Amino acid sequence: MRSTRKPIRRGRLLALLALPLALAVSAPGLANPTTDTAVAPDRTSSGEQNGVGLMRIVVADKSGIDRLNELGVDLAEYVKPVDNGIEVHAILSPEESQSLRDMGFDVQDAISDQSDYAENVAERSTTVRALQALAASTDTLTVLRSEWFTSLDNQLFLNIEVKSSAGSDSTTVLTVSYDSGAGTEIGSGGTATLSRFTDAGQYMYHRFSNPLAIDKAPAKATITSNKGGSVTVDVAKWLGSPRKVTGDHPYVSDFVDHYMDPTEITARFTSLAAEFPKLTQLIDLPYKTNGYRRQAQAQFGTATASIVYVTSKAYGSEGGNDITMSLVNPGAANAPLTVGVSGKAVTVNLATNGSGAITSTAAQVANAVNGNADAAKLLTASTYRGNAGAGAVAAAAATKLTDNLKAPASVSRDPFQMKVLRIGKHRDGSKVGVFLYCQEHAREWVTPLVCVESAERLLRNYAQDPNTRKIVDDLDIFILPVVNPDGAHYSMYDYNMQRRNMTNYCPASSADPANRNAWGVDINRNFSVGSVYDGYNGGSTSCTSDTYSGPSKLSEPEARNEVWLVDNFPNIKLSMNTHSYGGYFMWPPGAYKTAGREVLPRVDQGTEAFFWTSSDYILSRVQEYRGTAIWPGRTGPVTDVLYSAAGNSADEHWYNRGIIGWDFEVGADVYNPTTKRFTAVGFQPTFAEGHEEAMEFANGNIGILEVARAYATDKIQPKSTVKIVSQQPGATTFTFTTSEPANVYYTLDGSRPTFNSPKLALAGMREGVQNLTVNSNTTINWFSVDIAGNVESNYKPDGNGKNYNKQTVTVN
Ligand SMILES: [Zn+2]
Repeated sequence: MRSTRKPIRRGRLLALLALPLALAVSAPGLANPTTDTAVAPDRTSSGEQNGVGLMRIVVADKSGIDRLNELGVDLAEYVKPVDNGIEVHAILSPEESQSLRDMGFDVQDAISDQSDYAENVAERSTTVRALQALAASTDTLTVLRSEWFTSLDNQLFLNIEVKSSAGSDSTTVLTVSYDSGAGTEIGSGGTATLSRFTDAGQYMYHRFSNPLAIDKAPAKATITSNKGGSVTVDVAKWLGSPRKVTGDHPYVSDFVDHYMDPTEITARFTSLAAEFPKLTQLIDLPYKTNGYRRQAQAQFGTATASIVYVTSKAYGSEGGNDITMSLVNPGAANAPLTVGVSGKAVTVNLATNGSGAITSTAAQVANAVNGNADAAKLLTASTYRGNAGAGAVAAAAATKLTDNLKAPASVSRDPFQMKVLRIGKHRDGSKVGVFLYCQEHAREWVTPLVCVESAERLLRNYAQDPNTRKIVDDLDIFILPVVNPDGAHYSMYDYNMQRRNMTNYCPASSADPANRNAWGVDINRNFSVGSVYDGYNGGSTSCTSDTYSGPSKLSEPEARNEVWLVDNFPNIKLSMNTHSYGGYFMWPPGAYKTAGREVLPRVDQGTEAFFWTSSDYILSRVQEYRGTAIWPGRTGPVTDVLYSAAGNSADEHWYNRGIIGWDFEVGADVYNPTTKRFTAVGFQPTFAEGHEEAMEFANGNIGILEVARAYATDKIQPKSTVKIVSQQPGATTFTFTTSEPANVYYTLDGSRPTFNSPKLALAGMREGVQNLTVNSNTTINWFSVDIAGNVESNYKPDGNGKNYNKQTVTVN
């Protein structure tokens, strides 16, 4: 781990406090976040990444977390029991930290500050520049070894090692086609993808991770690169002594080598679709985002009552950035207040009194600008944060409005076309669908890499790995790598702690330039189930809160696109929503009402049992990569192991459509064997750590697909039995056991059991199944049904058959 756990630098804090806007924030928005007039925390004043930090807070119990949620505090998705309560992490400016301390919260040290961001950006630009240089030319292939050999059990193997001049780019993929003996056609022996071999982060060459089993000794092989290179070589018999090989099928992985922005990722998915037309379909989602763009602004004055700020009508990229405005001292007595417009230059001639002093107030200037027809076509003027604006303004030279967006021109300022890569041999709706989606929250930089790595593995291993082939043949997989592309661009180029999209719904009272990092809608709070608009906890109606749920349910194109996909492909039965950080595996319910902690309906006993059984499998796959264990305490329903998240997407999928909606939080705490402590990794760890997280959770995604395939192909009926728990005079207590996760429907009155009969329930949160007690001899009639819908003994609950289970329990 890096030494990031240093306090926020004192110099920066003092610089921030010296600014007038910071001083104006005497009552930060924390105190009353649900009104639009609340003064939002200032997050931009230092001109760089503004002094916010990821801070540690310890609360006494869960009600403390609920309180922070109600205050609209920007919490990380991380909860950890500690000796004196619960540790949570929040993104806070120094003023916000102080405000929380004033309210009695125990705000402790920083997990990370903005110096991490600069290091990450520098590392990323170096990689991107090197990759761009490589992409400019066709690669050269150097064959290091090409040979076949026989193992002790007479199996033939092929060994190929090739170095590509573009090999340090992880998207470089080499494929080998070989003949089946002298004079035969190249390809007649087979085709396979080579694995990219790196050592200590350095590209070495491409090879099979294990020698490839083949049927006939080849004479020639052709190696081709997706970067254009190609070479044909002789394949010789290896003269060394035959070696024992495991015979494992080569499995290729590791396709991400730097943090990627949504433009790069979408281009990668587009080229994957072009490369694998038989296995994929690229789906353009119907709702374009608002785009990585914003209106241009300028602010005049420093004292609150004298501030005027202006906002362009056009987006900055569409002309707003070309507008200028000046406040001119006429240099004469008794001058009137007038506004003139020439092209895109707005000139305000200020009024003076008899001695030539400026008398125009902020409110008068705003009214004059808004009242001038030509100026009003270009921009809107406002006083500062709802202030009456009674102070006289100061003269100011022509000032250019700016949207303050810093991404390179290669990042489009237009509405973004979100794309889903659909992967499957049979993409006709006949196969069970699985929806994998990533980066609803912009600052969670590792998450899209999980989606990219998962897609690459499925496509690159299809030709040679039988397990991958089963998954792709039997499922219909939909991968959306970036749900929040505008916010993600903003997080990467402008403000790294951005969580939401970029759409600003704030009124003039909170839409001044210093608030620009406090706008946007939290996509994972914008869905229609368990919303803040239904009284659930963990979403906000304040436009400056980091959990702002939007002006209404499903107001955002990003959220509507998710809903469109699951509505249009009703074969989707399972989904995974990947977030960071903390190392969690979660499922519904994900929200409760603030009043009375009324939780969304819990899933039934059979489904909960399926979730736990699946967890065991999926989390074992995660662990295979580098030993990371997702803790039992971070596995379970969202409301039990994290906190209430009103209007999240997993609840939308489950409660409205019955789609199993799972959530990952990648980035489990990393154990330091020296200090014997776990440390949190944060949203943007060094790429070296981010890479490991992407690899292990891509393993988890493959595990989910394996579970989905088992579900899709499950034709085995469950079996169930009655289990006597205890027998006392006058009372016998029993329950049911099942051969696999299944629901049990039963009657105790001798009637025929149906789907309307009582269903065996859970005893309580994180407890086992309930026990039933009878007080006289009772005949139990029952059947069980598994998660895939297979009914025990093929019983038809809606028919007339009697092939349900029957047993009489006796009471002493
Ligand atoms: Zn998140």
